[in-house]
Amino acid sequence: MIDVHVHLADARCLSPGFVAGIGASIGDDSRVGRALSLYLRDRDGRRLLSRMTAHGIAKSVLLIADFGPALGEPPLTVEEIHEHHAAVAGASGGRLTFFAGFDPARGERGLDLVRRWTAEPECEGVKLYPPCGFELDDERLLPLWRHCNDNNVPVLTHSGPSLPVLGRPRRYPDSLQEVLRRFPDLRVALAHGMIWDLDGTVQLLQRHPANLYADISSFHQLSAPDLDRMLDACAKVPDQVLFGSDAPLFDFSGSLGDRIEEMRRRLTPTLRTALFEANARSFLYGTRTRV
Ligand SMILES: [Zn+2]
Repeated sequence: MIDVHVHLADARCLSPGFVAGIGASIGDDSRVGRALSLYLRDRDGRRLLSRMTAHGIAKSVLLIADFGPALGEPPLTVEEIHEHHAAVAGASGGRLTFFAGFDPARGERGLDLVRRWTAEPECEGVKLYPPCGFELDDERLLPLWRHCNDNNVPVLTHSGPSLPVLGRPRRYPDSLQEVLRRFPDLRVALAHGMIWDLDGTVQLLQRHPANLYADISSFHQLSAPDLDRMLDACAKVPDQVLFGSDAPLFDFSGSLGDRIEEMRRRLTPTLRTALFEANARSFLYGTRTRV
């Protein structure tokens, strides 16, 4: 089983503005802030690895979201954050990999980071977070798309609502379609796509069957009937939906293991293999031949 959407629970790597925003979404209470800072100490990913073992997850993708320019720089510099993620992934025996974070506000420095790390084996893609203040078809992203396209690097981009302090991209999904029109071989995944806009995302996936994917991260927020509806929709786009837990955010609101079991029970064996593993392989490596 492959989880394409997790984060390292290490406060040194997270923008203080982002941590505060997450805290506020959990509860407006100083105790939440204190509990969060105690929680965000999984520096080497040991807790994450033990949860993966408990849930039968063989591999997870650590996503670096570069919130620094939009929400304030974390204690570690963006370069140090990438180095740290590479070290954690490198020490995991292949169980963890990471996606570099990119914000066009960093200019050449951001692109240099992506170029440097996507050449390393521990880094298998790029994560974008448009609510930080850019659109997917922003001219400033063109060199990034070109790099990823030319080097077979997959890109996972946040989609849907975000923290209230951040903006909301206005040109989505036209911006996405413009990128896919220009780079028809580039593999792109919409984080949370199957959760916040199920019908819209399925339509987009059907329009771009060869290279667009969507993950199910944030599924812990779905009611039982909505989870059913989402799993039914997987059958319409069986090769394009990716399992993502958004750990450690899940830890605050329910049992990941129970929900995984529920999904296992509900899905046919073919869809289960696709959602939990095969689609992630084709997104990450572009290796599965399509019929
Ligand atoms: Zn996430």
